[in-house]
Amino acid sequence: MVSEEELEKWIAAGEVARVVLEKSLDIVDEGLSLLDLANKLEETIKKMGGQPAFPVNISIGSIAAHYSPSVNDQTTIPPKTLVKVDVGVHVNGYIADAAITVALDPSYQLLVEVAKNALKTALSTFKPGIELAEVGARVENIVKAHGLKPIANLSGHLLERYNLHAGKHVPNVRTEPCGKAITGEAYAVEPFVTDGKGYVVEAGSGTIYRLTNVKKINGAELDQLIKELWKNYRNLPFSERWIYHVYGNTGLLKLEKLVHLRRVYRYPILIEVGRGFVAQFEDTIILLSNKIVNTTRVLELLKS
Ligand code: MN
Ligand code: MN
Repeated sequence: MVSEEELEKWIAAGEVARVVLEKSLDIVDEGLSLLDLANKLEETIKKMGGQPAFPVNISIGSIAAHYSPSVNDQTTIPPKTLVKVDVGVHVNGYIADAAITVALDPSYQLLVEVAKNALKTALSTFKPGIELAEVGARVENIVKAHGLKPIANLSGHLLERYNLHAGKHVPNVRTEPCGKAITGEAYAVEPFVTDGKGYVVEAGSGTIYRLTNVKKINGAELDQLIKELWKNYRNLPFSERWIYHVYGNTGLLKLEKLVHLRRVYRYPILIEVGRGFVAQFEDTIILLSNKIVNTTRVLELLKS
């Protein structure tokens, strides 16, 4: 069950994510620096009393997920593209995970509309007791009815306190039964829609990391860094920018060592295999006994 205090924090995190995405809707445009955008959005999260639950992801065109600007990222938003902004906020470990897509060219209108409809469909399917595979089947139906494809190997996920991917998945395609949603749970619901082949592959190393193993190494400096990573982020993903900001280049070198020693995982960038463009809308919902609370309501932000 979800206590009143817990619900307040889930909702507070959702409010921050919502404001941040609203802001990104205003400022995402051709020529904008990804580094400036990410820094600005992450600053806003903190100013509003939240913490980033992961680095802001800004995935352009056929990049589906896990692109976050590096320390010296020079990338700017190209003309006539499609930009996804995916933000994570936590308040005391209670997470909101939400995303929007901005089309900078009318030719992506269908992709964006279908991605919105896919999220609407997924949300309206959700209820306590639902078999999660049922959500995937409905999403697949609606997306394919428009001649597009959902991304089969990306899915929504159960959220727990300080745990972004807490086990259960919400598929975006028809699958075998994969578990039921139950009262008291929180989920990130996120259909991805593409005009490509319908699945993503890894496209090189990104700049997002996560502590996966706190076992000591017996190197005082590295063990100290592990301790601080745990203190600051627990098992939530963090950015190389945040490490650089505190520890400089030596911090990045140590981080590299922790990746090789398998204490830290580095997320690969995920790209649509056919280089199709990818649209995504994501909300966070809490399943209460008498209702479902959508903490982020991103589709309401898109009034135009
Ligand atoms: Mn997300
Ligand atoms: Mn998510």
